[in-house]
Amino acid sequence: MNLPFKIDLHGKVAVVTGAGGVICSNFAKALGACGAKVAVLDLNKKSADLVAQEITEAGGQAVGVEANVLEVASLKGARQIVRDQLGLCDILINGAGGNHPKGTTSKEYLDSKDLAAGEQEGLVTFFDLDPQGIEFVFNLNFLGTLLPTQVFLKDMVGKKDGVILNISSMNAFTPLTKIPAYSGAKAAVSNFTQWLAVHLSKVDVRVNAIAPGFFVTNQNRNMLFNADGSTTERAAKILNATPMGRFGECEELTGTLLWLVDHKASGFVNGVVVPVDGGFSAYSGV
Ligand code: NAD
Repeated sequence: MNLPFKIDLHGKVAVVTGAGGVICSNFAKALGACGAKVAVLDLNKKSADLVAQEITEAGGQAVGVEANVLEVASLKGARQIVRDQLGLCDILINGAGGNHPKGTTSKEYLDSKDLAAGEQEGLVTFFDLDPQGIEFVFNLNFLGTLLPTQVFLKDMVGKKDGVILNISSMNAFTPLTKIPAYSGAKAAVSNFTQWLAVHLSKVDVRVNAIAPGFFVTNQNRNMLFNADGSTTERAAKILNATPMGRFGECEELTGTLLWLVDHKASGFVNGVVVPVDGGFSAYSGV
């Protein structure tokens, strides 16, 4: 794989959750290319195995592990596999996450006419949001960051130069319309990143986060593109609000990943959330 620069991760064990997905498979491959032994964790074992195989074929060392970031027993099982096959975790990337239609309104603004008209096919107002849907999205992103941290941090305490990297989002700075659960959950991830950085500051574990702008991946492809390949109205709004006028390429996150993981490069960087967003979070829209 093409890296913007290389860091030396030989002797390190990296655990990446959600690593069967688009962004974090790239993260796993980049860490593997820098010499880390990589545990590729995902709910979907098949995609985890495929990524691990790619890392191995490129000359690295990796293992695919089925793990649900919402189940402590599953995470503890994964930790045992990682310890047995690769060793104790040095680097944890909390990548599993995403939105779900169950936590999403169908319109940007509440419209009194819709309320007066009553139930309509496809209409999900604020009042229709299902508490279980909200809970699912909130848990996946927030608890799905906290629980793997509880499980794998135990390996890091007592070692040197531990690194935890969380994945936040533009929604954490300013919520996007329609997706209150995902926005709230990612704001919680950013807040937790700061809290944890302080909490772990005496045990030599740094905690930071990357807040990606908009990258085309499995979880948002249908939101960004129509069936005929043209961009949706929402994608057009996103591109208008991104000064660089395009989506990001996953490789454009790699430099920030490697910088935040490398103790020599970022040893005094702790508790930050770094936007990689083509200017989205800097732009007021005017
Ligand atoms: P993706 O859908 O390609 O990958 C997500 C992966 O997480 C999938 O492989 C999925 O199987 C896995 N997963 C889902 N639930 C899980 C669970 N309970 N336990 C373990 N694994 C689980 O999406 P992506 O865009 O690559 O997302 C990676 C991270 O980046 C997510 O946290 C997402 O919220 C965040 N993010 C993405 C964007 C973007 O533009 N794509 C922007 C900001 C933040």
